[in-house]
This record gives sequence, structure tokens and C-alpha cells, in this order.
Amino acid sequence: MRPFAYQRATDAPSASQALAAAATANVPLTDAPVQLLAGGTTLIDLMKLDVMRPQTLVDINGLGPDWSQISLERGNLRIGALARMSDVAAHPEVLMQYPVVAESLKLAASPQLRNMATVGGNVMQRTRCTYFRDVSYVNCNKRKPGSGCAAMDGFNRTHAVLGTSDSCIATYPGDFAQALIALDASLEIVGKSGTRNMPFAQLHKPPGDSPQIETTLQPGELISAFVINGRWPRSIYLKTRDRDSYEFALASAAIALDVQDGNVRDARMALGGVATVPWRAREAEALLKGQKLDDALAQRVAEAAFKGASAREHNAFKIDLGKRVIAHALQRAAMMEI
Ligand SMILES: Cc1cc2nc3c(=O)[nH]c(=O)nc-3n(C[C@H](O)[C@H](O)[C@H](O)COP(=O)(O)OP(=O)(O)OC[C@H]3O[C@@H](n4cnc5c(N)ncnc54)[C@H](O)[C@@H]3O)c2cc1C
Ligand code: SF4
Repeated sequence: MRPFAYQRATDAPSASQALAAAATANVPLTDAPVQLLAGGTTLIDLMKLDVMRPQTLVDINGLGPDWSQISLERGNLRIGALARMSDVAAHPEVLMQYPVVAESLKLAASPQLRNMATVGGNVMQRTRCTYFRDVSYVNCNKRKPGSGCAAMDGFNRTHAVLGTSDSCIATYPGDFAQALIALDASLEIVGKSGTRNMPFAQLHKPPGDSPQIETTLQPGELISAFVINGRWPRSIYLKTRDRDSYEFALASAAIALDVQDGNVRDARMALGGVATVPWRAREAEALLKGQKLDDALAQRVAEAAFKGASAREHNAFKIDLGKRVIAHALQRAAMMEI
């Protein structure tokens, strides 16, 4: 592991300042000289693998209690970016009013990891593409822009079928982000010039021809909180994976429904494990509005969600699997007793 300096930030402006001072335009994230340290459960791994090579880590765990608070105020849920995954998943109001959030976190990683990892670090985690994580492969546009993509014609079983580009087909790996997308969450962001808000759906950037740039955060910006408006008791997260203990999603669906007298008044759907970014299936969810949900409709919705999918040699199975996950998740959400 390369040597690095360690700093402890006690306020957000100094953390932002440290990030901004070192930021250089168009440098891949892997080479960013300063990185924030939250739970460290993925950043330190990537540093040991020599994928991330920061010269300085700025520890943000001392930014104050507000940063890890979970509060429900005036019908809005606010989750501080430093809240631990396990604390959010076990919060009584989250369990009751936002089951999709609790389930997305409970089904992610292992108990030990969830106790340490923060929700801010979770949404910022990087792809699990094997070729990205193994620096002995030279062709990875995300690590080294212009070097090619070893996954295109390599072993691409876990890769994306939605939102891909000619430069990168890596899957966005997290689970929590799908719940946030489905519930139209927003972000509070702290930067050099104060605080701003942004829809969470605008955080992750599809790979296009610059897969090394993954988010729309500006130099010096850090996420301070997530905010969800309203309550979504009829919401679920369904995740399929290669084993039942800790494992990333092969295909997952976050679904939130508002059902009145058997008719769907509102529906939100986001897909995980199958796309390059947390994926909102807007066309598919529109089919549900004003309808009575039955098996035939669930199937049509699932088909619509994967209409634009494009597979490589080993990952075509995800299209069929993803459809089955959606249909099953819809049926389960419709049957929830609330
Ligand atoms: C074996 C294993 C299995 C896993 N399985 C899953 C899974 O199934 N599903 C899943 O979702 N995740 C999974 N994970 C990933 C895990 O959830 C993440 O490692 C964790 O959530 C990252 O949080 P952290 O606080 O430790 O982040 P860190 O490692 O501290 O940071 C990660 C990145 O986020 C940046 N960052 C941290 N906080 C902020 C902030 N507030 N603003 C801006 N940038 C920030 C850091 O600079 C860094 O680049 C798994 C991890 C492991 C090791
Ligand atoms: S899929 Fe993306 S991350 Fe994986 S090797 Fe190709 S460019 Fe790199």
C-alpha cells in the first residue's frame, strides 16, 4: 500500500477546502490526490489494491452529530450522510414508513460492514468490475481513460445491460441508491460556497465517453444528507444475488406504490445490478398508474423496463432475471398490508 497522509476534519468548510485545493480538472477519481474517509470499508480496500491512490485522506467522522442523525420532521425523512447503514436500517420510522430504504440497506454487505459503513460512502462506492479492481489489467477506461475496456469481450457476467456505452459496461454496485431513486430523494451538498440541494437522481453520471467521471459533485463538494419527502409504507426492495449471505445484486428492484381501492395512484420503480447507474424505470412505472395490478400488467411493466437493454456474451441472463424480479416485487408490494 502506498504511503498517505491522514487528516481529521472537524468542520465541513475545512473538509471541503482540503478537497477543493487538491482538485484538478479531468483527473480520474482513482488519481484524486485527496479523498474523504467515512467508514473506510471500500476506500481502504481500493487503496490496498492500488486502484485508488490518494496522497491524503481527510477523515470526516468528526463533523458533528447532525451528520449522522436520522430524523422525521413534517413528514420528511432526513438521513445524515455519516449515519451508519445498520442504524438507518433499524430505525423504527424507517422500518414503518420507508421499508424499501430499510430493506435495501439490510440486504447490502455483511452486518460488520453495515455497522461501520456510512450511507454517504455507500452511494459513492465504486464499481465491482473485476477488471477495474485488478490493476494487472491495463485496459480499463474508468481507471485509465483511453485504455479500452477489458470487460467488453472478457468475462462480463456481472456487467450492465442498461445505460452502457462503448467505453464502459460496469454496473453501479450499491443497493441503497435504488431506494433513494425510487422515492425521488434529494441531496444536501456542502461545498466551497455553502450548501445546495440536488435531486439524488442527478448524482450519478452514465459512463458515456468519460466513465472515469462518475458523479456530478463539483470539486470540494461533499454529501451532508439525504432527504425523502412524504411517506412510502407500501414500498419494497427485492434483490437477487449469487448467494444469500453478503453479495452484490445481480438484479434488484426498488418499488413504491400508492394504491387506493385496488387502483395504483402512483408508482415508482428503480433497478439495481443491471445498469451503469441507479436506474429509474419511468416508462415502465407509467404503465401502472390508474390501473389495477394483476399478473398480466406486472409482466408488461417488466418487459417495458428492459426495452432498451443490450447484453454482452455472458450477461444476457440478467434481462430475464430482472424482469422476473420486477414482476415478483410488484406482486409483493401490492399485497403488503399497511
Ligand atoms: C465484502 C463486501 C460486500 C459488500 N456488499 C455490498 C452490497 O451488497 N450492497 C451495497 O450496497 N454495498 C456493498 N458493499 C459496499 C459497502 O456498502 C460500502 O463499502 C460502504 O457502504 C461504503 O461506506 P463507507 O462509509 O465505508 O465509505 P468509504 O470507504 O469511507 O468511502 C467510499 C467513498 O465515498 C467517498 N465519501 C464518503 N463519504 C462521503 C460524503 N459524505 N460525501 C462525498 N463523498 C464521500 C469517499 O471519499 C470514498 O471515495 C460491500 C462491501 C464489501 C467490502
Ligand atoms: S467495464 Fe468499465 S470499469 Fe470495467 S473494465 Fe470496462 S471500462 Fe473498466
